Amino acid sequence: MSSSIKTYDYVIIGGGIHGVGVAQAAAAAGYSVLVLEQKALAHGTSSKSSKLIHGGLRYLETAQLRLVFECLRERRKLLKLAPNLVRLEPFVIPVYKNTRRRPWEIFAGLSLYAILGFLRPSALFKRIPKSEWGSLDGLKTEDLRLVFTYNDGSTDDAALTRAVMESAKSFGAELAMPAEFLKATPAEDHNVVEYSIAGTTHKCKARLLVNASGPWANTVLDKVESKPEKLAFDLIAGTHIVIDHPAPKAMYYVEAPQDGRAVFVMPWKGQTMIGTTETKYQGDPSLVKPLQEEIEYLQDVAANYFSKYSINTKVVESFAGLRVLPHAKGKAFSRPRETTFHFDKNIAPRVVTIYGGKLTAYRVTSEKFVAKFARLLPKRARKGYTSNASLS
Ligand SMILES: Cc1cc2nc3c(=O)[nH]c(=O)nc-3n(C[C@H](O)[C@H](O)[C@H](O)COP(=O)(O)OP(=O)(O)OC[C@H]3O[C@@H](n4cnc5c(N)ncnc54)[C@H](O)[C@@H]3O)c2cc1C
Repeated sequence: MSSSIKTYDYVIIGGGIHGVGVAQAAAAAGYSVLVLEQKALAHGTSSKSSKLIHGGLRYLETAQLRLVFECLRERRKLLKLAPNLVRLEPFVIPVYKNTRRRPWEIFAGLSLYAILGFLRPSALFKRIPKSEWGSLDGLKTEDLRLVFTYNDGSTDDAALTRAVMESAKSFGAELAMPAEFLKATPAEDHNVVEYSIAGTTHKCKARLLVNASGPWANTVLDKVESKPEKLAFDLIAGTHIVIDHPAPKAMYYVEAPQDGRAVFVMPWKGQTMIGTTETKYQGDPSLVKPLQEEIEYLQDVAANYFSKYSINTKVVESFAGLRVLPHAKGKAFSRPRETTFHFDKNIAPRVVTIYGGKLTAYRVTSEKFVAKFARLLPKRARKGYTSNASLS
């Protein structure tokens, strides 16, 4: 192999939030970084999320306290670092006579959420008095018992991903795009990486190869010649629809009458977005798309709570993203949302895969990643810190 090919400390496969997040943290720490993205930044799940920068109130139901605490801390950080991209919005939880989560359960969840947010003003919640229910975007009030409101963050997930890549570039990271990862061949202290740009194969060396390809993670591992062990995971599709209706003034957190799942009805670029679903998916991640039954499920949810929506309100856009969740039986709703850094313990950890995770936690996840694998790389002079790198 030619010795003239360039060596990077980090070659990262995937320009989703985790790929660009690790690129930013690694480049800030002084490492040389190349990101390979096959299509466009945020082409995968990172443009198809619910666009929330949140602790995840519903993860309290499954006692994922550490995740919620960490995400709330990241929310505070991102509100400061990216004020044009991450905003606090009012969230509204209506409780009806037949809502499955009882008022005391919601009260307890919101109280714990406030405590995990250090009882700061932005973490507190309150009840909306009956006299104000008429101003709630046409929310149906028949059998309505209580309405809670609290604050949480929202963003434009794709714009956030692009902003993090810009910040990574400012620390010296390089981006090849569109560039498809083809193959990695292990050598003593690096992998030789082959990737294709417009049909031409390019090569470089990676001291550490990061597989941040989200739903494609195990397809990418198949292209690594040392055949590292893979983690079994399930792909769970989540669909959102955008309906032809002016944006509501708040984010409504409602319970799907069909199965009790939490669904959001929220503003999105001047219209109304509703999501999401959980449907097990098998097949090529590039081909995932909303199913008609998922679209109808979401239309039903909106029509159930708001008199102004009907199941015939025009759907102007729909999209589906894939969650990477640990393989298990039973409902996806209750499975952990933590991130796993996986490498084959029988071969040197020169190829590390990032499985799972949350958009909200990308920065802290990426910092942990870089700290964990620093021992494999030469010492470098730090260029900056993600904790004070503003994003725009
Ligand atoms: C429906 C849904 C709603 C969600 N809502 C939220 C939310 O509101 N808040 C929150 O915090 N989190 C949310 N999440 C989680 C969050 O969106 C994901 O954890 C995150 O976006 C995953 O990012 P990623 O970088 O790991 O993967 P991806 O964004 O999928 O990025 C992987 C990238 O790898 C690229 N790639 C694949 N193969 C190759 C190859 N061979 N060569 C080069 N590039 C390649 C792909 O093109 C893609 O761009 C949600 C997830 C889903 C599915």
